[in-house]
Amino acid sequence: MRKKFVAGNWKMHGSLPGNAELLRGVRAGVAGLSIDIAVCVPYPYLAQTGEALKGSNVAWGAQDVSEHAQGAYTGEVSAAMLVEFGCQYAIVGHSERRTYYGDTDAVVAAKCEAALKAGLLPILCVGETLDERERNVTAAVVTRQLDAFIARCGVAALANSVIAYEPVWAIGTGRTASPEQAQEVHALIRARVARESAAVAAGLRILYGGSMKPGNAKELMAQPDIDGGLIGGAALVAADFVAICAAAQ
Ligand code: PEP
Repeated sequence: MRKKFVAGNWKMHGSLPGNAELLRGVRAGVAGLSIDIAVCVPYPYLAQTGEALKGSNVAWGAQDVSEHAQGAYTGEVSAAMLVEFGCQYAIVGHSERRTYYGDTDAVVAAKCEAALKAGLLPILCVGETLDERERNVTAAVVTRQLDAFIARCGVAALANSVIAYEPVWAIGTGRTASPEQAQEVHALIRARVARESAAVAAGLRILYGGSMKPGNAKELMAQPDIDGGLIGGAALVAADFVAICAAAQ
């Protein structure tokens, strides 16, 4: 039985006073829940987040990580630095990174490898655009994104990773994949991994992301291959994030 996992992706939102309130609300609201929970915050807020969540049942992480361990890479942040700030997770390959910053499958796989080497769990995001769904190439796209990870890191590395299926057309649009649409892709991901290792596939947590809200979370997470959620907009409202975590319980 896989433990459910709900992770928040704050994106480039927040302020020190606003975060303090949000973190307080999340911490108090999810106390006692036995699922895994994390918030992934902008780099400058990692110290604040660590302080606010210390000793709680909420872990924290970053929204990206460099593929390099160290060196002359102005503006980059290494996995080891994130570990110093108590991060357990790094989101890697979010569609916004792929679209706006040119993160290719190969770069995403290299970032995952760097995260894993430093002891971070990558949350590898995969998912098709609306155009790709309409052209019926969802399976091919998601498999290609997943295979880049497997080729670089090996299937065993998925035991220390999380996958988030995020259809690009559902991110921040209010348009959610139906539970059946999401389940179909989640099952496909698990089957692809099972071809390499049945044991890794059985333990792999595959989150759904894309306009998950308190009102649709339970139904989505009731699907056999949906092991939790990666939450954008609703992670910015403590009551909503808490309600999604409660629905996962
Ligand atoms: C995301 O950006 O990862 C996401 C799922 O956003 P939203 O929940 O707002 O669709």
